[in-house]
Order: sequence, then structure tokens, then C-alpha cells
Amino acid sequence: MSDVMQASIPHATPHARFIGSEIYRHSSYGAWHPLRVPRVSTVMDLARSLGWLPPAQFITSPRAKAAALTGYHTPTYLAALQAAEAAQSVSEQIRRKHNLGTPSNPIFKEMFRRPATSAGASLLAGELLRDGGVIYSPAGGTHHGLPDRANGFCYLNDPVLAIQSLRRNGAQKIAYIDIDAHHPDGVEHAFADDADTLQISVHEVNRWPRTGALTDMGVGQAYNLPVPAGLNDTEMALIRDALILPLVADFGPDAIVLQCGADAVAEDRQSRLALSNNAHWAIVAALRPLSPRYLVLGGGGYNPWSVGRLWTGVWATLNGHDIPDVLPPASQAILGALTWTSPLRKHYPEAHWITTLRDFPREGPISDAVRTGVQTLAARRPRWA
Ligand SMILES: [Zn+2]
Repeated sequence: MSDVMQASIPHATPHARFIGSEIYRHSSYGAWHPLRVPRVSTVMDLARSLGWLPPAQFITSPRAKAAALTGYHTPTYLAALQAAEAAQSVSEQIRRKHNLGTPSNPIFKEMFRRPATSAGASLLAGELLRDGGVIYSPAGGTHHGLPDRANGFCYLNDPVLAIQSLRRNGAQKIAYIDIDAHHPDGVEHAFADDADTLQISVHEVNRWPRTGALTDMGVGQAYNLPVPAGLNDTEMALIRDALILPLVADFGPDAIVLQCGADAVAEDRQSRLALSNNAHWAIVAALRPLSPRYLVLGGGGYNPWSVGRLWTGVWATLNGHDIPDVLPPASQAILGALTWTSPLRKHYPEAHWITTLRDFPREGPISDAVRTGVQTLAARRPRWA
């Protein structure tokens, strides 16, 4: 990046780069699927409207070829996924074998190209971070994907591919932190026996996929904290300061991968957690100094206003931009143009979903379940101390 660019962005992290693509703008999983709403394109548009995404920081995501995905996925599955995209249909046998053409993992126009683009970003990120730096790929974070089948809206597992790519490019100890409302069953499966991949997940208890129990510790490297419905910012701050940050600091990772799913905020209907986006941004900022390589991915997030605002704020946080109290008219116009319709109703945004990125803080009491869970997991900390 040029000196001019650094001078025009006062607190810029020189290495922060955004990997995105136009494929996400019009692609939809179908008329009533939760992933019918725009997400990454909103982030790109908002960031550009605020002057936060100059060409020097933007990378157009490559689309991974199937052969590049076999580090985790089986050739048989990849062939079936490509064939399903081409035919726009699957046989009953393929549906059962690979979980394709289901309500969660539907047939849609870009059903291979879109996830292959997110996976291409994750593979590239590992290469670009060889010598350190910060990369943001909000289209990534498809943490449920399994080797031989689609799972939970995820056709491929780009976090797994990112970790593998980081490792091929010089990072041995990798910390994977997942603050999506859902447990990352695909990632945990991939690194179940790998002591060099620290895994920390905070997810809603008793929610699909219902894995990630408090007692599920892999070979000692997995830390799973199921949290009750209603999780607030105060509780997440405790989890951050008493669990996530000490664990990662003790581990001393060569790289951090943060899955920053946006479905744990109060306005998202796919969970009953009740965070504000301030909770996410604080974790994004706090992890930054703990490793020379930092990859931030997206994940869930199904309210088009809250996911667009949260993920744009993540990019601001990675770059040290001050988030304005009131968005300029061009940014408000982007949020104002979003629509969200469900089978039985049209959703109307609250006023601040249009006028600002920042949610009102949602502080509250710390539940016994959160306090006990943090204490239980923190007690396992001396492993690396
Ligand atoms: Zn989720």
C-alpha cells in the first residue's frame, strides 16, 4: 500500500485486505430460504460509501476449482455438487447421499460457484498471510460443511480449507474462534484430533446441530461453551476476557481464524441470543494483537440490516476507522433500499438500522450458566501456561 493511502486512512492497518465478489449480490438460495437476503454486497457497498474500501485494499475472490477443495472434500461429492449445479436437479440417491436438494441445502443457480468462490477466498487468504497481516472475507465462515455432504446451508467448509491453507503457508499453531450462534460441527470434525488447532466455540445451547457440549473437548484443544437464550453483551464480555483471550494468548498461535457469524444478535431470527454488534466488534479488536496472522470470516446472519451493519463494522474495526454516530446519506440509502420478506409478512426496519451501524448496547446480568461454563473451561487453561 502506498504512503498516500496510509496518509489518507489515519489508523489503517497496512495489511488489512478485504476479499469479496459480485457473485453474492444477486445469488439467492431461493425465495424463502434464510439466505435469500443480500449480505456481502451490502458490506461492500456500505464500506465503499464510507470511503473505507479503496481499490488497494480490495481483492476479487478467485473461484476455487474442484481439485483445490480435496484437502477436505471428497472428489465424489465435489463432482455431485458440480453436476447438481449444471442440471439444476439431483436424483433421490444423490439427495440422500450428499444432502443436496433439501430445504436447507437447496438446488440453486450458483450452488457450486458461490461456495467455491468463498472457498477460493479462504485458500487465497492462507497464501496472502504467509508473511503476516489481516484479511477479511465476510463471505466465508461456512462452518457446517462436511467432507462428503452439504450441511446447514454450507456446501463447502471454507474455514477448514483456510486453516489447511494457513498451515501449508507456514502457520503451525492455529486458533479457531467461532462466535456464530451455531456450533461449528464441520470444523470440529476436521480437526478433532489436531492438538495444534485450538478451537473455541460459543454457541446457543440446544440449537441445531446440537453438537459442542461443554464436556466435548476433543484431544484437549476444543473448548465448547453452550450459552443460554438471551445471551447479553455483559456475558459475552466475560466470555471474551475470562476465556477467549487468555486461552488464545496462552496458546500463542501463528494464526487466528475468527468466524464472526452475525446470527447471535437480538434481531436475528435464527437464534435466541441477544447480543448487540458491539460484542462482536470488541472481540474482533481484542484478538488482533494476539497473532501475526489474522483471518476474519463471516458466517450466519439472516437479518439483512443487522448482518450488513455488523460486518461493515468489523471492517471498520480491523482498519481503526471511527464508526460515525449517524451515517451519511449515501450509506443510509443503501440500508434503506434493503427489503426482507417472509412467507407471512414483510419486515420493516427499526430507525437505527438505517441511520447507524452501531447497535444500542445490550448489557444485563450474568447468568449462572454462563459463569459456571466459563469457570469450567477456564480451569482447563493451565495446559499451555
Ligand atoms: Zn449460525
